[in-house]
Amino acid sequence: MFDKILIANRGEIALRVIRACREMGIASVAVHSTADADAMHVRMADESICIGPAPSTDSYLSPLAIISACEISGAQAIHPGYGFLSENARFVQMVEDHGLTFIGPSAEHIRVMGDKITAKDTMKALGVPCVPGSDGGVPDVETAKKIGREFGYPVIIKATAGGGGRGMKVAASEAEMERAFQTARAEGKAAFGNDEVYIEKYLQKPRHIEIQIFGDGKGNAVHLGERDCSLQRRHQKVFEEAPGPCITPEERARIGATCAEAMAELKYSGAGTIEFLYEDGEFYFIEMNTRLQVEHPVTEAIFGVDLVREQIRVAEGYPLSFTQEDLTIDGHAIEVRINAEKLPNFTPCPGKITQYHAPGGLGVRMDSALYQGYSIPPYYDSLIGKLIVRGRDRTEALSRLNRALGELIVDGVDTTVPLFHALLQEEAILAGDYNIHWLEKWLAEDPFSTS
Ligand code: ADP
Repeated sequence: MFDKILIANRGEIALRVIRACREMGIASVAVHSTADADAMHVRMADESICIGPAPSTDSYLSPLAIISACEISGAQAIHPGYGFLSENARFVQMVEDHGLTFIGPSAEHIRVMGDKITAKDTMKALGVPCVPGSDGGVPDVETAKKIGREFGYPVIIKATAGGGGRGMKVAASEAEMERAFQTARAEGKAAFGNDEVYIEKYLQKPRHIEIQIFGDGKGNAVHLGERDCSLQRRHQKVFEEAPGPCITPEERARIGATCAEAMAELKYSGAGTIEFLYEDGEFYFIEMNTRLQVEHPVTEAIFGVDLVREQIRVAEGYPLSFTQEDLTIDGHAIEVRINAEKLPNFTPCPGKITQYHAPGGLGVRMDSALYQGYSIPPYYDSLIGKLIVRGRDRTEALSRLNRALGELIVDGVDTTVPLFHALLQEEAILAGDYNIHWLEKWLAEDPFSTS
């Protein structure tokens, strides 16, 4: 059993982990940059340590600073949250070399899934269906054009090291190939230090469906159904729901079992998400995230489980606390990501919160590190809260979301709340009839124009 856990993160996800620790009787250690000295995670943790200046490369992304903080505080384990060092295999190796426990999968599994080409090869070998495309990396434009002709345009060129929507370019025809190929390569090199790219058929109207899995690291694994995260802007999710409005119980059982079996075979440990594109009844694997996802609360809401608690238990060496048969869906949940951004261009909008009131009541959860008087620093991402609602069914969840959004007060900065008010007026959203391109098309019609 751990007595003390260090949380190598900030914002709402740091609070999420601190809360799980407190319920389990485990002491928590917050780390923070100088810009976050007044942040809520620092106030809420049992202890806190300043690990460096504002830029994340010198603080939240510094393995040495974090491991030193662990040794100073006597924490035995590190929870990475999402982002920052959560999918950094070298960091995990360092943590283990220092005799500490990383709350997450092995360095090896992170390495395999962090390289998208290797991930696809691995999943294919485990019987998971993948998007048709190149067999591994594509060395030059000539080969890329040959593949384009073979699969038919449009195709998408992706950096094998890519993430967060970066390093991806669509080529609609052979004429566009050269430019798309070079841009994806350059982005991969600049953002991730790796210019290897691969090619996939670009699906026209897929939904983004991801399967939550959990493994005990010893050959047992379960799935916790899917989340539909198709509403995206620039390949970034803004609204997630579970169960997926278009997924049947039979489809869920089938793809869920395929994923759980693959993870059991790998002896995967902890939480993971296997992402698919779903079109015309078929699932196509795109990538796996070897960590807790931002949108994990919608799964918690419908299954009634605490995924962070489960991550900690598995890291302590306990078996999974639920079997596949224990995991049944009850109701429908929706999450919206509230960012400090100004519409219509989604310009980041850091600043001081002059008033804050979180919605409440039956079926409402607000995960946020905001408080009145807090100043959102300009150095980190603009997510300031996640509003999660659960209803007996989708209709109830939608009306609850509408009600909860109406109660939320965030004054002092602009937020993406008006986006969700507007989306809840849209027939397609109410009907659950949308795909990964829907939001961009809708935004292109300028719904927030003031003229
Ligand atoms: P990242 O690691 O940057 O998040 P992903 O591979 O997960 O990249 O893809 C992110 C999003 O890009 C997907 O959810 C989807 O919207 C879009 N996308 C990725 N691959 C394809 C494809 N083959 N066809 C159509 N859209 C795609």
